[in-house]
Amino acid sequence: MAFDYDLFVIGAGSGGVRAARIAAGHGARVAVAEEDRVGGTCVIRGCVPKKLLVYASRFSDDFADAAGFGWSVGETSFDWPSLIAAKDKEIDRLETAYVANLERSGAELIRERAVLAGPQAVRLERSGRTVTAERILVAVGGGPSRPAQGPGAALAVTSNEVFHLDRLPGHVTVVGGGYIAVEFAGIFAGLGARVTQLYRGDQILRGFDQETAGKLQAAMVARGIDVRTRCDLAAIERTGDGYLVSTTTGELIETGLVMAATGRVPNTRGLGLEEAGVELAPTGAVVVDATSRSSAPSIYAVGDVTNRVNLTPVAIREGHAFADSVFGGRDVIVDHRLIATAVFSTPELGTVGCTEETAVHEHRAVDVYKAEFRPMKATLAGRGDRMFMKVIVDAASDRVLGVHVLGEGAGEMAQLLGIPLVMGATKRDFDRTMAVHPTAAEELVTLRTPAVRHRR
Ligand code: FAD
Repeated sequence: MAFDYDLFVIGAGSGGVRAARIAAGHGARVAVAEEDRVGGTCVIRGCVPKKLLVYASRFSDDFADAAGFGWSVGETSFDWPSLIAAKDKEIDRLETAYVANLERSGAELIRERAVLAGPQAVRLERSGRTVTAERILVAVGGGPSRPAQGPGAALAVTSNEVFHLDRLPGHVTVVGGGYIAVEFAGIFAGLGARVTQLYRGDQILRGFDQETAGKLQAAMVARGIDVRTRCDLAAIERTGDGYLVSTTTGELIETGLVMAATGRVPNTRGLGLEEAGVELAPTGAVVVDATSRSSAPSIYAVGDVTNRVNLTPVAIREGHAFADSVFGGRDVIVDHRLIATAVFSTPELGTVGCTEETAVHEHRAVDVYKAEFRPMKATLAGRGDRMFMKVIVDAASDRVLGVHVLGEGAGEMAQLLGIPLVMGATKRDFDRTMAVHPTAAEELVTLRTPAVRHRR
């Protein structure tokens, strides 16, 4: 049977665009459908606009610190619409570049919603056309889940809307304890809003190294963010010019905005996947094997829709591996272990490898090295900020299992720390590495004595 395409990709986000471009480069006839803007979550309403807002939020510290270094900074003011306009311009530029790269690769971009019409057929909803493809790649990503039911829950905005607010409210209530909630609490606080963060768990950033997450939470509180744990949203009521939030612990909070960052769900609803023979997990995620193939042999899935590790570089790597394996004659399996990542909170958190909790669970003898110190810049600035670093070592093999950094530049450090960890570096390798002085990161190669020795 002759198919219209060798590959039909649903979703032009991080994973879909990479897979389409690489497959087209291998000579495949490729089409990509996108129902919204090209670039997906990361470019349009995720990593990129968020990081731009993070940069904006950190100027307030710089202005405050400048006096310690002899500068007099005049009166400062912040204009939210100017920031949003500048951010929008940059996102437009990136989207244009994404489209150009896709077209240059030879893939055909179809700007409408696509759903499956069978294991090798796709229906384009606006035009009503049905096209066939030998293989289909589902790269539809995920979207924010709404907070648990409760009166007025729909009055909360999510990360989708937050980039388009027409003004910065004086007070923001952020609901959630994951990295997106933590990052936005820091953004709003840095830009001058008062922030209350509600999280139903004991401590923010579940799944991260708990000691490091605890220190981040304490630092956020020290910076004026009102972090309330074991406390969730119960109801939201509209008032004259804002909202009244009631919490599960009986408190009332007057606020100008409620942002819910309470998790994300795969965009699989109404996609016709199960009818095409694709098994879905209870979360709605597409179940795939190590090659990203679903239970229907002609249908693959990459990125957030598979709910493996929901990060842009992972979606890109999975899309690339799929295209190389299926169309490039080179079998590539993505390794989901040892993924370095960052939380762009203030202070920033960078991490690679396992947490102390996991290390102790998986290894009989674990040494934990720690450094906590006042970074040099904070001295003249007169800031009480502390930097925290933790290196977790398997005492039997001397192999470094995980590194966690809290403080300025932690995200950049995490990327570089990822290389030695992937290479299997030992603590001895860290020790024989010469320091770069004066930096904060030099502490990572001068840690002498374990702060904790776990043995069982
Ligand atoms: P997406 O990029 O979401 O792309 C899916 C695309 O499919 C979308 O464009 C969508 O419109 C389209 N689509 C959906 N259904 C259809 C359909 N039926 N027909 C046609 N098109 C369809 N990750 C990081 O690594 N670092 C970060 O700092 C970071 N920050 C983030 C901040 C926020 C606020 C959010 C929300 C996410 C962040 N992420 C970050 C996660 C990252 O954005 C995702 O992991 C990544 O975008 C996933 O890529 P993807 O290709 O799976 O899906």
